[in-house]
Amino acid sequence: MSNKTGIAWTDETANWIVGCSKISQGCRSCYAATAANSPRLQQFDQYKGVVDGDGNWNGEIAFVPKVLGQLIRSKKRRRVFAPSMGDPFHQGVKDEWLDQFFVTVALTPHITYQVLTKRPERMLEYCDRLYGDRFRHQIQLRGLERDENLTKIYNRNLPLSNLWLGVTVENEAAANERIPLLLQTPAAVRFLSVEPLLEAIDLVDGEMHNPGFGEGHPWLNPLGGIVYDNEGNFSCAPAIDWGIIGGESGSAARPFEMEWAQLLINQFQEAKIPIFMKQVGSNAFYEGKPFKTKSRAGSDPKEWPEWAQIQEFPDSSIIPNLESGEDISESF
Ligand code: SF4
Repeated sequence: MSNKTGIAWTDETANWIVGCSKISQGCRSCYAATAANSPRLQQFDQYKGVVDGDGNWNGEIAFVPKVLGQLIRSKKRRRVFAPSMGDPFHQGVKDEWLDQFFVTVALTPHITYQVLTKRPERMLEYCDRLYGDRFRHQIQLRGLERDENLTKIYNRNLPLSNLWLGVTVENEAAANERIPLLLQTPAAVRFLSVEPLLEAIDLVDGEMHNPGFGEGHPWLNPLGGIVYDNEGNFSCAPAIDWGIIGGESGSAARPFEMEWAQLLINQFQEAKIPIFMKQVGSNAFYEGKPFKTKSRAGSDPKEWPEWAQIQEFPDSSIIPNLESGEDISESF
């Protein structure tokens, strides 16, 4: 049930829930709803009750626990985008489903989970409770305490070191609303998916503040979460660890001006934040003219100007065991 994917910043997807409802501008051409409605996916039970037949979500959410079982049994190291066919913090996703997903993450430290939401208020509220007594309680409830290694894993790794949490930021309004919530959420890696990028976004405009710093400090600070005062004392605040940038794809794609991406790249680079330029989309413009690409969705970096050809990941020192390729799952 885990699937290979064309999403270049991950290795595969794992749809332990499917279904959603549109919530903001970035959702207008939701690829997941279109795909869920396709004959290929409609043959699977979990997709049958979540779309309305016109390619729109109907607001129902299906939980697919066998996907979690498959992840637990798998020993391969990789990055997994989970889920790609819905929003894990949609109001229709039950707390106990989230509990089962987070337990799966704790049981599989050799997998790096990339989790993305447009509903960071629920993510913050859930993770606040998760890292309290409730998480231990839920694990005991399921009898998983018999696995003494699990206790070692979550005692050692809170917040879970193999769980990256991100928010979608399609415009400045979404940035203002979602990023401060992400920064308050406990996470080993916090990331932004700026896709589809719909306008120029100024992340360091003085109006958005890192909640760790208070007024007067932009949240994308050049030192990645550390600031010095006049006496040389330093303090740490939550930081953004990774930024993904992309234009919209598909026949109804909205315009994507390459200069918007350039502005963002400059801001991320200034803040020493790794960048993954994913695609320029299907309706890109550069220097005032249409920017045509041969590749579908404009996803071949060789077709982009040199300044845009950046596909970086967060510092590997914060990606547990991903780079070595050694199979460590037997040790847990
Ligand atoms: S949140 Fe994501 S999955 Fe849900 S409607 Fe919007 S784009 Fe689609």
